[in-house]
Amino acid sequence: MIQTAGVTAPASRSIARAELRYMRARDFRNLVSVDARIAPAGMALVGDNAQGKTNFLEAVYYLQLLRSFRGDRDQELVRFGTSGFHLTGAIAGPGPTEIAVGFERPASGKGSGRKRARLNGVEPPRLSDALGILPSVIFSPRDAVIITGAPGERRRFLDVMLALTSRPYLTALQRYRAALANRNAALRSTRPGQGDDAVAVWEPALAESGAVLWNTRTNWVASHSARFTELSNTIGENGEAELQYRPRAHSTDASFGFEVTLREWFERKRALDIRRGITHIGPHRDELAILLNGRDLQGYASAGQQRTAAIALRLLEAETLRAAAAMEPVVLLDDPFAELDARRSCRILDLLNSASHGQTLLAVPRTSDIPEGFTRLERWRVTDGVLAREHE
Ligand code: ATP
Ligand code: MG
Repeated sequence: MIQTAGVTAPASRSIARAELRYMRARDFRNLVSVDARIAPAGMALVGDNAQGKTNFLEAVYYLQLLRSFRGDRDQELVRFGTSGFHLTGAIAGPGPTEIAVGFERPASGKGSGRKRARLNGVEPPRLSDALGILPSVIFSPRDAVIITGAPGERRRFLDVMLALTSRPYLTALQRYRAALANRNAALRSTRPGQGDDAVAVWEPALAESGAVLWNTRTNWVASHSARFTELSNTIGENGEAELQYRPRAHSTDASFGFEVTLREWFERKRALDIRRGITHIGPHRDELAILLNGRDLQGYASAGQQRTAAIALRLLEAETLRAAAAMEPVVLLDDPFAELDARRSCRILDLLNSASHGQTLLAVPRTSDIPEGFTRLERWRVTDGVLAREHE
């Protein structure tokens, strides 16, 4: 773990690596039928636009989160005109050696469909037991939305990372979402002036699970903000970059913990919530602020500054995953240097090389875009959803 050491301090070389040795995809986006044996060092995927490079990285990431990193619904991942997709990864390293995931569209076209996972051929009791089996972190041009997008994008960043690295967080997140959906449904079926018991009944569960989210997020931000500054500066940001967690609820009494504070706010806002039909306060409305020189980056950062901040966040995520899994995550680099000047790209490469010894899957449009340092990766040509190994 390199959290407290200097930026260039390498991660412990004795740490295990997560390695994807074999990837099989069927009817996932435009990947009709992919079978790829992957070298321990990784691979470089080269292909024109819209051929399936990102789709392949998305498929690999799917084995970790059992969801799209782009936030798309499973139904959108199913190849057009087919009924479902299947992904299988063979993994070298500690833990299960094979993970398989399948998704079938709902037969009637309604509902959410059916998703199942198998670990070494056995379906675990809950789907969430298969989360995080193949730790990976993806660097993608889409990451700029973490900086510039709505607060929900930044909450999603935190939620995904913390759910993958903390079971209690994952459980709390599931409970919180369920209690929130119930309270919101009760809000909409309660008329102003009517009794509010149907709403209040969900608040203890909401406050209890919400307190875990609030607490975990606050702790993570507090213990990683300095490292964020350091990483941003190393990439080439001259200003003071900083992370701040901004809760919507604040305690009116310093002795109140998170749970008591949330209960108090739910009660205080109940009448307003009933009038508007939504829960106004709670971790689902909190903000992870990303600041540069004390100002929110969201509104004014240049494209390069956005990419820099996003990459610094992904590097932090990689460190967090590495610490939790005691394993070097697989690094997925989707055209990572678009919009960055040569100096910043160079520093990011140095950082990646010194901070991570993970297996690397890189996607670029042209062979000439493969940075030095990655030129030794096996090259694969991606054409219309088909992966073919290039022989030099
Ligand atoms: P770029 O260099 O532009 O990033 P890429 O190689 O990364 O390109 P992808 O995003 O992997 O491209 O693939 C895009 C292609 O996948 C598009 O042609 C899109 O229409 C297709 N696609 C996306 N979803 C599906 C789906 N559900 N079924 C079939 N094809 C799909
Ligand atoms: Mg792409």
